Amino acid sequence: MRPSAAESVPADVSPYDLERMDIVAVGHVDHGKSTVIGRLMADTGSLPDGKLDQVRAMCKANARPFEYAFLLDALKNEQAQGITIDTARCFFNTPRRHYIIHDAPGHVEFLKNMITGASRAQAALLVIDANEGVRENSKRHGYILSMLGIGQISVLVNKMDLLAWDQAAFAAITAEYTDFLARVGVHPTSFIPISARDGANIVARAAGAPWYDGPTVLDQVEAFERRDDDLERPFRMPLQDVYKFTEADDDRRIFVGTIETGRVHPGDDIVFLPSGKRSTVRTIEALSGPRPDEAFAGQAAGLTLETQVYANPGELMVRADQAEPLIATRMRANVFWMNTAPLVRGRRYVLRMGAARVPVELEAVISVLDDQELESVTGAGQVERHEVAEVVFRAVRPVAFDSTDVLAPTSRFVVVHGYDTAGCGIALEALPDAAQNGDSARRFGRGDVSEEERRARYGHGGKALVFVAESGEEARGVAALVERRLFESGVHSYFIGAADFGDDKDVLGRDAQLARLGEIAWAMTDAGVVLVAALGDVDRFDLERLRTLAAPHEVIVVSTESGRELGDNVRLAPATSAAAAAEEALRALAAAGVLPALTAGVLPAAAV
Ligand code: GDP
Repeated sequence: MRPSAAESVPADVSPYDLERMDIVAVGHVDHGKSTVIGRLMADTGSLPDGKLDQVRAMCKANARPFEYAFLLDALKNEQAQGITIDTARCFFNTPRRHYIIHDAPGHVEFLKNMITGASRAQAALLVIDANEGVRENSKRHGYILSMLGIGQISVLVNKMDLLAWDQAAFAAITAEYTDFLARVGVHPTSFIPISARDGANIVARAAGAPWYDGPTVLDQVEAFERRDDDLERPFRMPLQDVYKFTEADDDRRIFVGTIETGRVHPGDDIVFLPSGKRSTVRTIEALSGPRPDEAFAGQAAGLTLETQVYANPGELMVRADQAEPLIATRMRANVFWMNTAPLVRGRRYVLRMGAARVPVELEAVISVLDDQELESVTGAGQVERHEVAEVVFRAVRPVAFDSTDVLAPTSRFVVVHGYDTAGCGIALEALPDAAQNGDSARRFGRGDVSEEERRARYGHGGKALVFVAESGEEARGVAALVERRLFESGVHSYFIGAADFGDDKDVLGRDAQLARLGEIAWAMTDAGVVLVAALGDVDRFDLERLRTLAAPHEVIVVSTESGRELGDNVRLAPATSAAAAAEEALRALAAAGVLPALTAGVLPAAAV
């Protein structure tokens, strides 16, 4: 008999001193998953003192045979303490590691937890009943593990005692399942014949299977490799919130979020995406004690920056010196659908990715995993409840994310419909932008007064001047003055000050507002008006969208912001007052040939 790692952990070793390893256990109901977990806990001496005896006594008092599953239920009940938990967690220790087993009741909960990041397993134990063989759910579990990219999988062929440890039966199951898993790209690390009930090949070796010389379950989990490289990956922090210091004259802000991957230090140049706002980390804040000189994956962090930037919650904070994430409005993704109403085209959903919430539509279903055959089929128009599908989503604005093969944590998303978490998934690829729906002319239809006729009457054509600043307030101040000067010069002008677009939490509202403004811009400019609009806190994607919506009429963007790419036409130097900024804007617009020079407040005829 080989030595096993069954010595229990010395009492003075805290689990926190040990290496941590997260494992997920999956299996068809009644195939023995709870028994495997109970055994692992009991046979490694990881149970709370007296627990085993207590449950045995309870079984005896109720004249029921002892079951390891009861033990697990008892532990879970204590753990849950009245709150509903999707995944129960069990722990066992070896002298080397602290193991956390995530035990999801079914594949729906399991997938949800895995994709939303509630559970992060690095390896999986897949339990199959030797008597029943590979079932549909075993296949589904295999597929799901493959979709999640969990590479380390050990298949436990349980209840071998019922087959008198028949080597041929074990070989047959191994062959069948190996074949299926290979088709979905999964190559198990091992197949282990076990009897969980008898504790055979869990920690101690099975006396009934001298023909088996592979690892026991414990040997196998000890051999799983930890994937710790989250720390060594590019820095990604979804921006959850921005806190202001409360002191009156303190305008510093703390940018908070949970770091998904990588590390960040004071002095690192960072970028918020998709807005492209840049700065440098000044400090990493601490609740108490000295400020740390590094924050890293897994930590909730609060950072202050060297410059004043108005980044919005929802953006992805990355380091300027590292690989950029993808930024796209269209993505190819794997999705697991959970809602009773199917995922269909033409309906608005909200994609929650990192801290971002973005309205999306289903553009196409590439393939759906067939429920019976568990093979991909194409041609489906929608995704039904509990189906796994490869789809294309189109968002109303760009999202920053990673593809799952590059950086899994920032590839995960949840699809919300109304108030429900309707589905979840992982991003596979960014796709090129589709043309956005402009063409308002076609949608609205026009009368028979021509653009030339209007131009002849007003002395100028229609165009939109959009003033952009960090805040809507600031932009409004300048834009209103510009409009007054234009109006007094005889220009057929109109001012519209839209509110700040900053609040990403109301994504649908923000999107609708932008669309409305785009249509107003089209109608006004089509009417021959010089529209002067003020916007706060928009990014280059918003402005591109406005341009598309107003097309074929021109949108000229005047910005007072510095340090980021907005695709603006005129950038103003910092001015001392709104009036000075307005004069500077008029001068710059004249220099750019957009407006004539307004001398003495009089507009030369037909000059614009
Ligand atoms: P789960 O639903 O997958 O968690 O399954 P349980 O662990 O609750 O086990 C289901 C049933 O199978 C229970 O009655 C167990 O006693 C029984 N069982 C589990 N492992 C074995 C085993 O190795 N041999 C036999 N004969 N029965 C087992």
